[in-house]
Amino acid sequence: MKITQIFKTHRQTFSFEFFPPKDEISAVDFGINVGQLMKLNPSFVTVTYGAGGSTQERTFALVDYLQNKIGLTCMAHYTCVNATMERVAQDLKYLEDKGIKNLMLLRGDPPKGQKSFVAPKNGFQYAGELMRFARKSFNFCQAGACYVDKHPEAPSIEDDIRHLKEKVDAGADFLITQLFFENKNYFRFVELARKAGINCRIIPGIIPITAYKQIERFTQMSGAEIPRALKEKLEKYKDDPDATYKAGIEFSIGQCRELLDSGAPGLHFYTLNKSRAAVEIYERLTS
Ligand code: FAD
Repeated sequence: MKITQIFKTHRQTFSFEFFPPKDEISAVDFGINVGQLMKLNPSFVTVTYGAGGSTQERTFALVDYLQNKIGLTCMAHYTCVNATMERVAQDLKYLEDKGIKNLMLLRGDPPKGQKSFVAPKNGFQYAGELMRFARKSFNFCQAGACYVDKHPEAPSIEDDIRHLKEKVDAGADFLITQLFFENKNYFRFVELARKAGINCRIIPGIIPITAYKQIERFTQMSGAEIPRALKEKLEKYKDDPDATYKAGIEFSIGQCRELLDSGAPGLHFYTLNKSRAAVEIYERLTS
């Protein structure tokens, strides 16, 4: 089913992101986690695409499995790194033939060792170009990425939003944000987007911090601002993993509650293939 179809009957959606497990042990772990999350009846799930297309085969196999064998509404992530237009057409046709209806279309990060993104010959420079190409030749429900704390390459948030508007006009049906921790930044972002004429759903991307060492990783990954109060709390419990987990979960629940109460169109959880935190947060939100 297309996710836009779900939007017609659901004011808010609850979705979960996975990545393809890298070996047999992780695959077993993954199965257990998906089983836990299925109990929550997610609106849809998404599967990431490894840097530079490194997980293509596993991403495609996993979306096929989750959708066609397990019966979940599924969205495949796809980036145009290292892909010519012909290759993109071939890949999207493959997904179409598998009955996949939803795509998260991305530019992707520059390959390791490359400072800036260089489009391959006969390829795409920006996600918007990929979006337009897919819209013209296929019939997917298309999602795009956006950045509450600004994409790291963009000179300003205004600049980023101007390009985001072009991307949406090129064929994005809805947007999912990069992870963030400051709700006020999300609200400001949505306001700027609306002023720029972006009217589609902007679903907040949520990641619970459950271990102290994640702070640096998440900040580096996304450039997201971590609220001082949360940082101080996590610092205090630095040597106590249980207390850190609890503090991280409590923060996420507060963050999610405020977003939902303020009219956010749902939540998208970056699960990192671990169900415990996402299940706990979701259950507390809906109980
Ligand atoms: P774009 O929308 O093309 O934007 C990239 C930069 O270019 C921005 O700074 C933008 O302002 C600028 N820009 C856009 N259009 C123009 C233009 N016409 N002229 C000048 N500048 C322009 N990565 C993966 O490898 N695999 C994944 O599965 C994956 N999933 C993700 C899911 C979500 C929800 C998010 C938020 C990110 C994901 N990423 C993933 C990361 C993403 O690939 C990177 O953040 C990448 O650097 C940008 O991709 P994009 O699609 O946002 O690019």
